[in-house]
Amino acid sequence: MSETARVVIIGGGVVGASVLYHLAKAGWTDSLLIERSELTSGSTWHAAGGCHTINGDPNVAKLQKYTIDLYNEIEELSGQATGFHMTGGVMLASTPERFDWLKSISAKGRYQGIETEVITPEEAHELMPLLDPRQFTGALRTVVDGHLDPSGVTYAYAKSAKILGASYQTHRMVTGILRARDGGWIVQTDKGDIACEHVVNAGGLWAREVGRMVGLELPILAMEHMYLITEDMPEVAEINAKTGREVIHAVDFDGELYLRQERGGMLMGTYEKACVPWSTRNTPWEFGHELLQPDIDRIAPSLEVGFEHFPAFANAGIKQIINGPFTFAPDGNPLIGPIRGLEGMWSACGVMAGFSQGGGVGLALANWITQGDPGFDVWAMDVARYGDWTTLSYTNPKVQENYSRRFSIKFPNEELQAARPHKTTPIYDRMVGLGAQMGESWGLEMPLWFAPEGVRDQFSWRRSSDFDHVGAEARNLREAAGLLEISGYSKFRIAGADAGAFLDRVLACALPKPGRMTLAPMLKENGKLQGDLTCACLDPETYMLFGSGMAENFYARWFEAQKLSTEDVTIEVIGLGLSGLHIAGPKARDILAQIAPDMAKMRFMDFAKMDVSMAPAYVGRVSFTGDLGYEIWMRPEFQRQIFEALLRVGADHGLRPIGLRALNSLRLEKNFGGWAREYRPVYGPLEARLDRFVAYAKPADFIGKAAALAERETGGALRLMSFAINAHDADVIGDEPIDFQGKTIGWVTSGGYAHASATSVAMGYVPKEYADQADGFTIEVLGHALKATPLPQPLFDPEAKVMRAP
Ligand SMILES: Cc1cc2nc3c(=O)[nH]c(=O)nc-3n(C[C@H](O)[C@H](O)[C@H](O)COP(=O)(O)OP(=O)(O)OC[C@H]3O[C@@H](n4cnc5c(N)ncnc54)[C@H](O)[C@@H]3O)c2cc1C
Repeated sequence: MSETARVVIIGGGVVGASVLYHLAKAGWTDSLLIERSELTSGSTWHAAGGCHTINGDPNVAKLQKYTIDLYNEIEELSGQATGFHMTGGVMLASTPERFDWLKSISAKGRYQGIETEVITPEEAHELMPLLDPRQFTGALRTVVDGHLDPSGVTYAYAKSAKILGASYQTHRMVTGILRARDGGWIVQTDKGDIACEHVVNAGGLWAREVGRMVGLELPILAMEHMYLITEDMPEVAEINAKTGREVIHAVDFDGELYLRQERGGMLMGTYEKACVPWSTRNTPWEFGHELLQPDIDRIAPSLEVGFEHFPAFANAGIKQIINGPFTFAPDGNPLIGPIRGLEGMWSACGVMAGFSQGGGVGLALANWITQGDPGFDVWAMDVARYGDWTTLSYTNPKVQENYSRRFSIKFPNEELQAARPHKTTPIYDRMVGLGAQMGESWGLEMPLWFAPEGVRDQFSWRRSSDFDHVGAEARNLREAAGLLEISGYSKFRIAGADAGAFLDRVLACALPKPGRMTLAPMLKENGKLQGDLTCACLDPETYMLFGSGMAENFYARWFEAQKLSTEDVTIEVIGLGLSGLHIAGPKARDILAQIAPDMAKMRFMDFAKMDVSMAPAYVGRVSFTGDLGYEIWMRPEFQRQIFEALLRVGADHGLRPIGLRALNSLRLEKNFGGWAREYRPVYGPLEARLDRFVAYAKPADFIGKAAALAERETGGALRLMSFAINAHDADVIGDEPIDFQGKTIGWVTSGGYAHASATSVAMGYVPKEYADQADGFTIEVLGHALKATPLPQPLFDPEAKVMRAP
């Protein structure tokens, strides 16, 4: 009889060890970690061991804080020293733009409970005397920042897990993974098979190879990374003697450097622009405890800046240069969670900052495996954000771009250029010819705005070169009509004799009748949002669902997991198999009726199959702009002729193409939220003000019903609010803190300028007790607390008369 375990974790790096520990802590002691060599035999052993809480994404920052807070716990439990030194640190800016960014990071820290302080270069110099204050514009002092012993931490996790009852085996190699007849898995190793329910891929440098054992091509690439260690430096000894402490950490963003003390000298690492990937297709299994050849020329430009910004380095001898590989996903965030279509197969890889993030990743995964939910917001790390379109050839340039920009500012209106264009729709070239400035959304090119000849985006935190042009698009739609490419939505066809019963269970709304559509919140068992979709009924056995494009795989994984084996339901992921166009504005009906006379009588939320121009299409009367509008769905081969026909007949009515920025501006005037901003898997429908679409009383026992009823009973904890901001030349971007009478109580989810109402708008969450306050709010934008006035009613068409016009 073969060996058994409930969970087999492949890989004994810091991430696998953390997953094992958290499973054991959750009581799943029948978990077994398999490591082909010694623990730490991938990228873990040669890491620089730095850890910090600061991250541009607040949810990742939260997980980093959890990770660092864990080190005492595992050290105490295991008796294994982690070598953790909490030194604190400074984050340095050499330009006003970078300083603005640091201020925004500090502001975000306020609602996450992360202590930081904006300081002058001179104050930074007092804290970290190796820096030359003349080289900097400003700085941020951080508190929870430090370094540790990578091997010590990994062993502390593994030993703690063992003490709690789980186990790990070293010098055992996983060679294959097979589906077992009972629906579980057989993990094949060089020392025999192990039957299990769940497999966790924590293969780090070999995660791609482990993925391939079940036919997966994970979007991960390893990059070479170098840091140097100096000989002992007298300046370091002097600081140690004077302060009685070690030199604190420093991150020099514009120099693209990180620094910390290492024994009597310093460690300095860099994310060099001329970066080099490692093992672009296959990671050699023989690779283990060796290092890569250092290439000082590659990091010379960064070192030169380092010598200028930290003059003592110019006299220091270099004792050692470490060059080692570690893995990244295209956006630099981990890839965690269940793999769609492979029940019981889990990803815990692409963790590029294992010592800041490994603990949180382990907790999320253990929660997910044992309770069916990660327990906190891991949307940005969910492996489902990628799909078959993230091939190795796409991942390679994207990861290199991410690595080389690790310390670069990404302005809110900046679009990254690597691996583009990747996915395009049939009207891509035509829109570019009309001046479309393209953005990329999950691989797909989408128009952001239409620029006149010679005008382009100027990257900035403030209103920029697009402002007037986006304004003109938005106003034109409210006065006449606008035409928008919407092919990027996720689209599903759910069909079969049990389609209705299936959707009645999976969606919290009342199902629409044939020919009608409805907004359809989807909940998890815990009553939090699992999706925000539109559901259209073609006939009682055929439904179409539309949602956010970035969530396509996330939704598909959920639908497939909910389907009972006894149900006659097919779930078709349509993707770009249907293209889309959206026409909205007071003239939209007159324009569309000229090429689709059947639509003239459509009521708000009607959905029908009809000919549009010469093509078969589906038309739904709905609009995210809040105006009179129609979504038109057609096969890709017809998109171009319908687009041309609309432009032609719309010319006399003032129709013009618009981009996503105008759409954002228009939906803000209606207080309409969007997926991954206002609607995320941690908010309840009442909190997110989607409760009016929840059919609490419907007979079907829909997923999350009990929790949704409980939320309605208690009122939940939070409330989504909209505010008018007293802004001057900069609008909110997202994640800014919301203060009430000087105290931080909430956070912004999104916002921008509502051009047609000439109002700067922010949306965000506050504790429900504040939701009825009419005054007293401020929102910090670029370091200034701006008055924020609640908007209980939408700025545009508060009674929805325009949208529903007969
Ligand atoms: C030079 C350098 C400096 C760094 N500095 C920092 C830093 O300061 N702070 C920070 O947070 N991060 C740092 N990192 C990144 C950090 O090392 C990684 O985030 C971390 O090591 C990822 O751990 P992991 O467990 O995912 O992968 P790995 O460490 O690669 O572990 C994977 C393990 O899986 C095992 N394995 C794979 N396939 C199989 C198989 N088929 N059977 C059995 N076992 C298998 C491997 O042997 C290996 O031990 C640095 C990395 C480098 C290279």
